[in-house]
Amino acid sequence: MTERVVIPIAERRYDAALPAVPDTPAVPVGRLLDARGRRLHDLRVSVTDRCNFRCTYCMPKSVFGADYAFLPQTSLLSFEEIVRLVRVFAAHGVEKVRLTGGEPLLRKDLERLVAMLAQLRTPAGAPLDLTLTTNGSLLARKAAALRDAGLTRLTVSLDALDDATFRAMNDVDFPVADVLAGIDAATAVGFRSIKVNVVVKRGVNDGQVVPLVRHFRGSGHVVRFIEFMDVGASNGWRLDDVVPSREVLRTIDAVFPLEPLDPNYTGEVAERWRMRDGGGEIGLISSVTEPFCTDCSRARLSTEGRLYTCLFATAGHDLRALVRGGATDAQIAGAVAHLWERRVDRYSEARSSETAGLRKIEMSYIGG
Ligand code: SAM
Repeated sequence: MTERVVIPIAERRYDAALPAVPDTPAVPVGRLLDARGRRLHDLRVSVTDRCNFRCTYCMPKSVFGADYAFLPQTSLLSFEEIVRLVRVFAAHGVEKVRLTGGEPLLRKDLERLVAMLAQLRTPAGAPLDLTLTTNGSLLARKAAALRDAGLTRLTVSLDALDDATFRAMNDVDFPVADVLAGIDAATAVGFRSIKVNVVVKRGVNDGQVVPLVRHFRGSGHVVRFIEFMDVGASNGWRLDDVVPSREVLRTIDAVFPLEPLDPNYTGEVAERWRMRDGGGEIGLISSVTEPFCTDCSRARLSTEGRLYTCLFATAGHDLRALVRGGATDAQIAGAVAHLWERRVDRYSEARSSETAGLRKIEMSYIGG
């Protein structure tokens, strides 16, 4: 029997017009819920829009070429500005913070930011769950400093084990051995259960699924397969290039039989499976074929301090203007609450060929 993948049809054109924030919004108390009852729990912070890779599905050379104008240094939030904003978010329910980009390890002295964020506490007095997503190219050099600064978890993107396939996908001829050395270095300094993210594109790296699982079997690290998404407006997304997670599951299960695991928490993006023979866990992130908007608790802070309430948003609210314009923490919290409480985003559930063509924000800017 052939399984049919059903892509939800748009009920309406996805529109992400921003609610206007009043000059003196009401100051919130405690945790925030959006208009669909979803908590604000995770914050992804893009610390740079630059990357040293040109992955064809994310920052294709045709758009991000030698003459591409990246943001000037003065536009970027400073570490102090980031910490101040994260402190406001943490006071209103954010418990998990992910540093991303662009390539976050390109941001100078990133470990200093990690050390500053590691000092923050939730209202209950707990440290934040502080993590980082990286392409791994600079990890061998940085792993110890990140660990010493207080980074607790790590995600490394790695689309292939085969060197030629990897070099073709990053499109800067970067060798896979250097990323593997970065993962080894991170393991050696004590990072456990590293998440290894693989974006699967049909005909490009779908043959790498089993080799990747085999390589990380028994390591304690978790390989997670991500469906190729229509983020941004420049990656030439086509539904035909998406390998549905169910297909990835069948491919792995045929070699390493799998059984399902319960989610770690509500809203976890990856569906968890484990190898029946004890070889370890894998994850499936199915944002195209099985959207998880219903539980989405993530906000994104762009490199220049705009707040986006959906990865597929077309507009974000300028929190940097508030920070640099002398707003108090209460005023910033009021603006965040005003936006979050009106949030109705559910792009992946409304995806269609029409929405895929919208001028969405690039992932390198908004933070993956
Ligand atoms: N440079 C870092 C890295 O490579 O992990 C962080 C930023 S990157 C934008 C974050 C994640 O987004 C990576 O795992 C990347 O593979 C994923 N990503 C980028 N474009 C994607 C797309 N079109 N579909 C699915 N995942 C994508």
